[in-house]
Amino acid sequence: MPYLRVLLSFLVLIIIGISTQAKAETQAQCPVLDASDPSQRAALMDYVCYIAAPPEHPAHQATKPSELKGELEWTYANGNDLVFSHTDSVYWVTVNVVNRLDTRQLWYLKLNYPLLDHVSYWISNTSINQSIVTGDQRPFVDRNIDYRYFLFPVTLGGQESATLTLRIQSEGALNVPLSLATPDVIIEDSNHLTLAHGLFYGALAIFAIFNLLLYFSSGTVYYFHNAFYMAALAMFLFAMGGFANQYFWPNSTSLANTSIPVLIAVCTLAIILFGRSFLDITPGTVTDRLLKTEAIISLALIALSFVLPYSLSIVLNAASGIAFIAFLFVIGLMRWREGYMPAKWYALAWSGMLAGTMIYALAAFGYISDFLAREIFMQVAVGTQVLLLNYAIVQRWRLLNQKLLDVEQNARIELERKVYERTSQLRSTMRELEQANRKLAALSLNDSLTGLHNRRHMDNLLPELCAETRRTGQPLTLALIDADHFKSVNDRWGHDFGDTCLKHIADVLTRHVKRPRDVAIRFGGEEFALLLPGTDADGAYRLCQRVLEDMEASSIHTPEGEKVTLTLSAGTATLMPAENEKSLFKRADEALYAAKSNGRNQVAQSKITED
Ligand code: GH3
Ligand code: MG
Ligand code: MG
Repeated sequence: MPYLRVLLSFLVLIIIGISTQAKAETQAQCPVLDASDPSQRAALMDYVCYIAAPPEHPAHQATKPSELKGELEWTYANGNDLVFSHTDSVYWVTVNVVNRLDTRQLWYLKLNYPLLDHVSYWISNTSINQSIVTGDQRPFVDRNIDYRYFLFPVTLGGQESATLTLRIQSEGALNVPLSLATPDVIIEDSNHLTLAHGLFYGALAIFAIFNLLLYFSSGTVYYFHNAFYMAALAMFLFAMGGFANQYFWPNSTSLANTSIPVLIAVCTLAIILFGRSFLDITPGTVTDRLLKTEAIISLALIALSFVLPYSLSIVLNAASGIAFIAFLFVIGLMRWREGYMPAKWYALAWSGMLAGTMIYALAAFGYISDFLAREIFMQVAVGTQVLLLNYAIVQRWRLLNQKLLDVEQNARIELERKVYERTSQLRSTMRELEQANRKLAALSLNDSLTGLHNRRHMDNLLPELCAETRRTGQPLTLALIDADHFKSVNDRWGHDFGDTCLKHIADVLTRHVKRPRDVAIRFGGEEFALLLPGTDADGAYRLCQRVLEDMEASSIHTPEGEKVTLTLSAGTATLMPAENEKSLFKRADEALYAAKSNGRNQVAQSKITED
C-alpha cells in the first residue's frame, strides 16, 4: 500500500512541525508597533504578547483589561501565530500601537478565524477606552461589520498611541490568526477572496445540481450520492469559513456552533454512501455490512450532535469521519487492485483530498497556523477531488456503456449465427423433404413390380387427356389389355413365375409404346392399359395387334427351363365428343370383355366409335 505509507509519513512530518513550532516563546517585552508603517503592520506578531490563563490562573476570571493584575507575566509571541488546539484556557492578547502620522487614521485589527465563541476587544489609552464584545456565541446580526471574520477598528489621532487588548475564550480549537491592515487593503483582500470563494462554491453547487439532474434523468443512485456529497462538503466548508453564520443563520447562535459537528457527520455519511455505490460494493458482503454500519453510526452522530456538548461531538465526529474515510480509501485501493478501473480515479481523487483534509483539520483545530492559507489549500484539494470524482463518474459511465454495447454486439452476432444455423438446417431439411416427396410421388405413381405407371397415375392423367382432346379435337384412345388365363399360370408355375410373366408383359408393352406422350399402365393384377393421345381407333387397333402378336411370338422360360407362351386380350375405345373418362373406360372394358368372350388373344374395338 504505497499510498498509506505516503500518507503516514506526511502525518509524521506535520506532527514534528507542530511540536517545534509551539515553544518559541520568551519573556514579555512587547515593543510598540507603528501602525502607519506597512512593514511593521506586516510583522504584527513581532509586537504581540499574550497570557494563556487556565481555569485556576488569576487572569481566567478577569473580564476586562483593568482587572488584570500588574504583576501578571505576558508571553512574547515572537513572530509566531497564536495557534492553540482544544483548550479551556482564556487567552489575553495585547499589542501597543502608535500612529506616527500627524493625521487621524483608521486601521482594522483582523481576526481570521470565524469559529471563536467569545471575543472581546478593547482599545484604550489615557483618553479613550472603547470595547467590542463579539464571538460566534452571539448572533451574527449583532456584528458591527457584516463580515465573516472579526474586524476591530483601530482609530488613532496624529501621534496618538493606544493598547489593543483581546480576550478570547472558545470551547473548540483556539486559533488567533491576527493581522493589522488599512481599510483599503481589507476591502481589496475581501474582494479577491470573495470572488475566489464565489467561484469555488458556485462550481460545487453546479456539480451538485448537475449530478442531481443526472440522477433524476437516469435513476442511477450514485449520481444522487455524488450530489449529496458535494452539497454536504460545500455546506461544511461554508460553515467552517464563517459564511453559513453570515448568510444562513445570522440570528442563531446554537446553529452557529452545532452546525460544524453536524456537517462533519453529514459529510461522512455522504462519503460512505457515495463510495458504496460508486465502488460497486456487492450487497451482503462483509465490506457492505461494515459500510452500512458506518452509515448508521454517522446518522446517529448527526442526531447526537444536536444534544451533546460541542467539545465532545466535534471530537467524536471528526475522529469517526477520519476513520470511516480512511476505511473507504482502503476499499477504493482494493477495488482498484481487483481491476475495477473507476476505483483508480476514486483512489486518486481521495489521495489529494485526504492530505488536504488533514492539513485543513489540523489548522482548523489549532494544531498548525495560518487557517486562511489552509482554507485555500483545502479548496484546491476539494476542487481537484470533485473534478477527479466526476471524471471517475464519466469513466464509470463509459465502462457501463461499453459493456452494454458489447452485450448488444454479442447478442446480435449470436442471433445472426443462430439465424444462419437455423436457415441452413431448414434448407437441408427442405432438400431432404423434397427428395422424399419426389420419391413418394414416384412411388405413388409407379407400379413397383413392373416399373410402369400405376392406377393412380391413370386416374390423374385420363381426365386431363380427355379435357385436352375436347379442347383440341385431337383423338384419344384407351386400350385395356388383360393376360389370358393368368390364374392357371400362377397355379401351375407359382406366383413368382407369375410375377416374371407380368414383367415380361410390361417389357412388351414398353417396346411398342414409343410415342413420347403414350403411357403404359399396370392398373390391376394382370390388367394393363395404354393411354394413347393423338391416336385414333385404327391406329390403336394396329398397335394392340402388334402387341398381341409380339406376345404370342415371344416365350418365357420357367426356372425349370420350360417354355411358356402367354397371350393377351385387348379392348379399345376412342373418346367421343362430350364423353367423359368413365364412359370411355367402360366402353374399353366392354370391348375387352368382348375379346375375351370371342376366344381371347384378340383385339376388340368399342362399337360406338363408329357413330
Ligand atoms: P381370363 O383369361 O378370363 O382373364 O382368365 P384369368 O385367369 O386371367 O382371369 P382372372 O381375372 O380370374 O385371374 C387373374 C389372376 O391373375 C388371378 C391371380 O392369380 C393373378 N394375378 C393377379 N395379380 C397378380 C400378380 O401381381 N402376380 C401374379 N403372379 N399373379 C397375379
Ligand atoms: Mg386374365
Ligand atoms: Mg383379369
